[in-house]
Amino acid sequence: MAGAHPGTAHSFAGTSAEPSPDCPRCPRLAAFRHEWRAKEPSWHNAPVPSLLPPEGPDDVRLLVVGLAPGLRGANRTGRPFTGDYAGDLLYATLTRYGFANGRFAARPDDGLELIGAAITNSVRCVPPENKPVGAEINACRPFLTATIDRLPNLRAIVTLGKIAHDSTVRTLGGRVAAHPFRHAGATDLAGLRIFSSYHCSRYNTNTGRLTTEMFEAVFEQVAGFLR
Ligand code: SF4
Repeated sequence: MAGAHPGTAHSFAGTSAEPSPDCPRCPRLAAFRHEWRAKEPSWHNAPVPSLLPPEGPDDVRLLVVGLAPGLRGANRTGRPFTGDYAGDLLYATLTRYGFANGRFAARPDDGLELIGAAITNSVRCVPPENKPVGAEINACRPFLTATIDRLPNLRAIVTLGKIAHDSTVRTLGGRVAAHPFRHAGATDLAGLRIFSSYHCSRYNTNTGRLTTEMFEAVFEQVAGFLR
């Protein structure tokens, strides 16, 4: 079965877009999940599924690809970018540019809905210190591939940070050297336009590496492209 987008063809065909709660592909991350299940049994502590709009995958024209769940963010709540600072800036920006609706309150039941957009992570399980290793990024790529392949009307991707960017380029069959990460950069690959941004983490915003204005400028470009 070929993918919906030319670059993602057959190599990972048949992989579900959502890993099982006990996905064993990354032993280090599986052990970390188990450790936190014991410490915090009420938390999600499992691969975090992608967030889709209520209309489903056919409605998605924009996919946001993050790095990985934060320990006390998505790993706790089970929804991407929900429960820590990164979500505050991301969801406010998505709402401002018409890609989300409702009031984000950092809880999966806050009623916020995406509009024509989806959010996923390049690594679905929380890594210690937010740092996945190369083997883990590679191990999780089939799920990113399958996620992209289930979005037949996808036109644009926003990659947050270099790891997400490089993994997305590889997912689409491109060479990273030919499509390097650059904040506010854009590149065309496999019939899609990839926009890249520094990750909207608290660290990046606290240090001034990424300002709200810089982040909004990326989504302004995206909204203009999709208009
Ligand atoms: S990061 Fe991805 S591949 Fe690795 S264990 Fe989690 S779901 Fe599986």
